[in-house]
Order: sequence, then structure tokens, then C-alpha cells
Amino acid sequence: MSKRNRNKSSAPPAAGAGKTCSFLRSPEADSLIVNQPEDSVELFLECRECGRKGRYRVGGVTLDPALVLRPSNDPRSFDAAVGFTGYFVCRQCGSYGPWNLTTHALLVVSAMLAAGHGKAPFFMGQQQLYDGTVIRYAAEGVAILTARIAADPTNAFLHDRLGNLFEVCGLLDRAAIEWTKALELDPNLPTAMHSVAQVHVKANQPREAAALFHRLLDRLRTDSSIPLEDRRRLARSGLEYLVGIHNDSGGEIPLMNLPPIGDSSALTTEFKSATLELRSFDLEREEDWLRMVDTLLGLGSQPVSGAGRGRKGKVPFARAHHDRSRR
Ligand SMILES: [Zn+2]
Repeated sequence: MSKRNRNKSSAPPAAGAGKTCSFLRSPEADSLIVNQPEDSVELFLECRECGRKGRYRVGGVTLDPALVLRPSNDPRSFDAAVGFTGYFVCRQCGSYGPWNLTTHALLVVSAMLAAGHGKAPFFMGQQQLYDGTVIRYAAEGVAILTARIAADPTNAFLHDRLGNLFEVCGLLDRAAIEWTKALELDPNLPTAMHSVAQVHVKANQPREAAALFHRLLDRLRTDSSIPLEDRRRLARSGLEYLVGIHNDSGGEIPLMNLPPIGDSSALTTEFKSATLELRSFDLEREEDWLRMVDTLLGLGSQPVSGAGRGRKGKVPFARAHHDRSRR
């Protein structure tokens, strides 16, 4: 990054780019993550702002099919269909774009097009922000979200989304800063809880991660204002992490956040049912995951052992749960 780069607020951290993040399975990020340097496409591009050319690692390449298939006499029409998922700005003027494809870049992108959709890091489609705003370049999205945050600095949701965008760019340190900020501003924001918990997993802080995942599951179980799809998606992911953390700790870190023995009346019957299912379900079976997530969330599952749906049902397995680590 040049000293002359004036886009300081968006400059990536030295240690952020190129790190592996295979642990990250953020549902927000989908398949656009291209954070391995060797997977990032290198193109020779011309900045339309200042006219200077340079070689850039652009992450993945996106091609908007609606634009590329439209007949046009404009020699730049193909350029307009091409976007990049990596974070970079012009070394000369700091602009995020637009970029003109040089002959070299055109050849590389054409070859990728010929290889076909699905051959990472090439994607057919558009990049969009959370509200549907179409962006061509990840750095463009960063600039848009940064401006929105400047106008509304205590908006946890915006910080969370900027974190997700940095994640897509492979800038995990920057992502962690934004997610942490979001969680400070709104300690109950489910997506931020999930993301910060993932950061703890990566930092090898399993207890902190588990505590946050436990709090996330509590939130998902009790807050029906969260869209159902999000509740299921985040609960499923949180549970998968907790199973891994629990197993890695040799059972020391509990799978579920249960009150001390003698205080099991604080638990709902649904939660007790989920605890039982966690002990018996088959990790290899997708239907068991779905059943367990719904049970955990209190969604239309069958009560167990005739315990009924009231708060005072029998708890035949509470002791078994607390004895788990000794088995
Ligand atoms: Zn420039």
C-alpha cells in the first residue's frame, strides 16, 4: 500500500490478509471468500480515476451475466460487468474503481469465463450489500458502509455488516474489530455474537467462545422476533461449534449452559428435551441436526418421557447431563 494512498480508513492490516479462515463458516459470507493468497487472482488493471496501471490481487472475479450478455458497441461494456471480491484500492490515487481491464486482464478473465462458473475464484453474479445495493468491488462496499457508519456511528447492525464484508475480503482482523464493536453497541445482536464467538475459536479461546455461543443459543431460544430462518441457521452453527469445543475439551467445557444441580426448575421442558437429544443424536444425520435445532428453539418438537410442555415436567436426564464429563 503506497504512502500516497489517501483511503486510510480502509487500509487493510498487515497481518489480516491471506490468513486461513477455514474455521469461518459465516452464513453471510457464502462462497465468495477468497482469502488464500494463492487463490486470489492477480490482474493488470488500469485505474479509470487516475489512468495509472498496476498489478493487483483482486480476490475472486465476479461477472454480471445481465451485463455481459447485453449486446453493445461500447468497448468498455465487458469491463462494466466485471467485479472483484478482494479488498484493494489504487496505489496511486486511493480509488476503489472503476477499473479498466488491460489486454492482460481481459485474457485472464476470458479464460476464467471459458473454464466456467463454479471454478473458484470465478463467480457468475452480482455482489450486494445487506440492503440490496449492488457493488462491483469489495472496496466500494467498504467505502459505502464506512460512510453510513460515519453518519450513524452507534449503529451495531452497520458495524456487524462491515465486519461480514471484511470477512468476505479475507481481512479477518478488520472483521473482528467491526464485529466486536457491534457487540459492544448491542450485546444481544445474534449475528455479532456468532461472529465474535468464531473469533474466539480462532484465537484458541474455547471458554470465551463457548460462553458466547451459550448466550447466543439463549437469545435464539427466547427472542421470537428474530426471523425463524436466522434462528435456525445461527443455532445450527452455534451447536456445531459447541459440539466441537465440548469434544476438544474432553467434556470439560459443557455443551449446554445449564444452571447448577438443584436449580433445574429454571429450565423449560423444551430445553431439557434438547439436552437429552444432544446426548443421543447422530452427528452424521442431517435430520437429527434439524430436529435438535428445532427442539432447542422450542419449535414443534415432541416432548420426551411424557414430561409435557409445562415447566414442572419430570427431569429424568438432568443428573445424567451433569455426570457427562465423568463418562
Ligand atoms: Zn488511481
